[in-house]
Amino acid sequence: MLKAFPEKTPELERYSVITLYCLASLLLDGYAMEGVDEKLRNWFISFETERRAQEGLPDEHKDDQLREYRRLISQSTDAEESVRARLEMMERRFFIAYPDIEPRDGQRAFSHEQRLAIFRRDEGLCQLRLKCDGNRVSWDHWHADHKVAHVKGGKTTVANGQVACPPCNLAKSGHTIDGS
Ligand SMILES: [Zn+2]
Repeated sequence: MLKAFPEKTPELERYSVITLYCLASLLLDGYAMEGVDEKLRNWFISFETERRAQEGLPDEHKDDQLREYRRLISQSTDAEESVRARLEMMERRFFIAYPDIEPRDGQRAFSHEQRLAIFRRDEGLCQLRLKCDGNRVSWDHWHADHKVAHVKGGKTTVANGQVACPPCNLAKSGHTIDGS
């Protein structure tokens, strides 16, 4: 954190420190990425800039997520629930901003934070459309599909992931070796 934010960063409020710290340790532990500090700093400053720019907008033009974030930071910011919700929001947005970040161990399964980002980016709609017309899926019932299969060298990144509904996922796995 000190490396990422060496000088006083006016955007860095007390309530952001804990969520940024969690995000930083998650990235350092689980992902192979260069320049974590710089990415984290740049991302956070643009996040705060966007968030603050939204404050002046009428409610109907505000990003729902940022409005929710605003609500969370205006209440008890140290409550576990609030920290977790803010962290998830940051994970989603960070992984959408940097969709090529790869897990450290080249694993096949998408991580929770990658799934959050894929689901949000695809707006919860099936992208495969083999058996459906782009059905909406529920968070508890969808498959994170590798666009290019893992066995064919497809990476486990947000960029190579997409939302698949169960019937489409089954249909696709009929045509590929690894089902993904
Ligand atoms: Zn489908």
